[in-house]
Order: sequence, then C-alpha cells, then structure tokens
Amino acid sequence: MSGITAAIEASEAGCNVIVVEKNAFVGGRVASMNKYFPKMCPPTCGLEINLRRFRTNPRIRLLTSSEVEKISGSPGHFKAVIKRAPRFVNEKCTLCGECVDVCPVDRPDEFNLGVTTTKAVYLPFEMAFPARFTIDGSVCPGSECGKCVEACPYDAIDLEMQPETIEVDVQAVIWATGWDPPDATQFEGYGFGENANVITNVMMERYAALNGPTGGRIQRPSDNGAIESIAFVQCAGSRDENYYEYCSGVCCMGSLKQVRYVREQYPDAQVFIFYIDIRSPGRLEDFFTATEEDEGLTLIKGKVAKITEDAATGNLTIEAEDALSSQKITRTVDMVVLATGMIPAGIGNTEVEGGVETDRHGFLAAEQPQAGMFAAGCAKRPTDVATSVRDATSVAMKTLKFHVE
Ligand SMILES: Cc1cc2nc3c(=O)[nH]c(=O)nc-3n(C[C@H](O)[C@H](O)[C@H](O)COP(=O)(O)OP(=O)(O)OC[C@H]3O[C@@H](n4cnc5c(N)ncnc54)[C@H](O)[C@@H]3O)c2cc1C
Repeated sequence: MSGITAAIEASEAGCNVIVVEKNAFVGGRVASMNKYFPKMCPPTCGLEINLRRFRTNPRIRLLTSSEVEKISGSPGHFKAVIKRAPRFVNEKCTLCGECVDVCPVDRPDEFNLGVTTTKAVYLPFEMAFPARFTIDGSVCPGSECGKCVEACPYDAIDLEMQPETIEVDVQAVIWATGWDPPDATQFEGYGFGENANVITNVMMERYAALNGPTGGRIQRPSDNGAIESIAFVQCAGSRDENYYEYCSGVCCMGSLKQVRYVREQYPDAQVFIFYIDIRSPGRLEDFFTATEEDEGLTLIKGKVAKITEDAATGNLTIEAEDALSSQKITRTVDMVVLATGMIPAGIGNTEVEGGVETDRHGFLAAEQPQAGMFAAGCAKRPTDVATSVRDATSVAMKTLKFHVE
C-alpha cells in the first residue's frame, strides 16, 4: 500500500516511477487481509481504487517478480540494477485456467501461508494485478513436462523465458518494503507449530477470508470443529526483551477486528483477550469501546505465561496472571490466536553503496544518510494502512525536489 501510494502520488506530480515488487503481484500484506479496521471493508475496497489509478498511469513501470540487486551513485544520480525472475506467462494470458487444469505439480500457497496448495502455474489470488498466471520456476519441471504449453489456447506460456537484468538511472529511491510476520515457533510456552489450534493473527485473516483455505469459515484446524470459545493473546513476542522489544501498534486493533469476525459466525462463542494494555489510539478508541460492549467478550489484563494442549480434545489451557486481581488464572478454550507483531522487511538482499540506516530493531530510518533516499510506511515503523498511505504521500512529495525532467 505504501509503495503503490508513493508511486501514484509521485507519478501524478510528473515523475516517471519504477515499482520493483518481489512478488508476482502488487498489494503486499494488505491484499491478504479479510477486512480492514476501522471501516471493516474488504481489501478490494481501498486497493481497487488505487490499483485503477496505478494501472492506467503511463508514468508507472511495474516490475513484478523483481528485486533490486544493487544501488550505486550519488543523490540525484542513482543507478539501480534490478533482477527480474521469469514469469513464464506473457501478456496474452486471459486467465482461462486451461493450464492449471493440466499442471501435475502442487506447491504450498504462500498467499494462504502454506495452509493450502496451488499448482506450479497459478494466479496468486483472484484480484491479483497483473491479472495473469505465473509459474513457480523452482518447482515446475519446464519443457520436460510442457503440458501447460500444449493446453494454452492463446500461446501465453513460454517456458524458455530467462531471468533479466535491468539497469535504470533514478533520481530518488523510496524503500516501501513493509513488514513480515515473525516466526511464532520461537515464542516459548505458546506451543505454536506443536498445537494445531494455536494460530497467529495473520493466519486468522486468511481463515476468515472468503478466498481463504476454509472458504471464510473460522474453525478449529485440528478437527474443523465449530468454535465455542477462543482466546486472543496480545503482545505475543512483542514488548518482550526476549523477542521483540517494541510495540507493533496495530495488533490490539487487529484482535478487536478479529473478535468481530468470530462474532459474525458464532453469536454465542465466549471470547477472551489477554492483554498488557489495549492500544487503540485516537479515533480508533471508538472501535474499541464498541467492541467492548460485546457481552461474550472478556478482557483480561495479564501477560500469558503458558498454553498447554489437552491431547485428547485439542483444547487449550491458558495460564496468566490477572494483573488487576494479582491472581493466577486459567481459561480453557477451543482455539488461541497469537497477536504477533510486525518485523521489518528491510532492504532484502540489496547492496547499497553508502549503506542505509536502520533503528536498533531494523526499521529503516526516515532520514537516510544519502539525500534522495527515503523509507515509507511499515518499512520505517509498524503502523496501520491509513498512516502508511499518509506517510507514503508525504514521502513522495519529498522526492519531488530531486525530480529533473
Ligand atoms: C494481523 C494484522 C492485521 C492487520 N489489519 C489491519 C487493518 O485491518 N487495518 C489497517 O489499517 N492495518 C492493518 N494491519 C497493518 C497493515 O498490514 C499495514 O499497515 C500495511 O501492510 C502496510 O503496508 P506497506 O505497504 O507499508 O507494507 P506491506 O504491506 O508489507 O508491503 C510491502 C511490499 O513490499 C514488497 N517487498 C518487500 N521486500 C521487498 C524487496 N526486497 N524487493 C521488492 N519488493 C519487496 C512486499 O512483497 C510487499 O508487496 C494489520 C497488521 C497485522 C499484523
């Protein structure tokens, strides 16, 4: 969202913009959300408007499946070397799907966090832009198989496509590389990766989504059972000197939003949120107070120490200290959602002459050592979509002083 926004704003102000995206589609993490707080609209809503502006803008050149290998030069005169992986599908693709029907290879679907699979030739998700299939070259046997080439009625598949190296001269650089979810298996005591019914907030977004692995039904992963009780564990690995010391700022709102997903499907389910503080700044406080009125929701102020599974039922018992009563408490539920935070994606494998500056957590500094180099959105600090969009707009404006026709 930050990259798309910065590109649109800079291009509409007269700059030519090259967008380098490592995925085969644009939209980033936002594309895989079920709904956005606070409006609770689907990602199609905000993304679609921006994508229309993006698609129709002749000043924007989009390079998907691409990463920047190297940036050299000086402010106003940068040279970027971009590596573009082959997509193996050209612009003649009409998304008819004949290739998918004959493809013999399955691969984990990263859009659904590996919970489901796709064929080696696949569309990342229904709304993906560019709206074109792509082939995962790491699993496709290529011309040894060739079934998709034979099946395609439009001559849209070219298994001989090669990686490309593209060199461009640019006057400014914006890092809008966003965030990644942390590996939750590292968080001791929570049993993520061992107990099937412990999931993360990012997984919950996919489970609740109509185009997700369960067609939008929130259910226990161990037995596909209905939910009678569920707990959200806030600050899972965050504000914790053993893991990530900082607050990601959106996880409280994320869980409050997900409480609403649960409530839409299970009017009688018992819902618990274990929290340190509920952080719903500014206007978002209204969302918190409205959600808090839910009579089936219990907020417990206390950091969770341990989650144990009953192997016979798959039920989970949570142990925490209730900070308000100073009592140790336990709650047994069907499912637990770990509200994990955001870790910085950083600059990936890019080599930058003169280097880049980060804070001690790895988020890119707003002011980079080299003039003309900026960070925008969650690459700079964890935040919500509205703030990312505002930030990306202001960063795009800052690049304008480096723009020379
Ligand atoms: C569980 C959860 C729920 C959330 N729900 C909401 C919500 O309801 N409402 C809300 O406002 N916010 C929500 N957020 C926050 C929201 O996800 C972020 O604000 C948003 O994703 C920020 O967008 P971004 O463009 O900065 O980063 P991203 O969405 O991370 O996009 C970064 C893009 O850069 C690409 N990229 C990364 N590294 C490279 C590289 N080296 N080379 C090329 N490309 C690269 C990525 O593929 C991606 O496309 C939620 C966060 C979490 C954790």
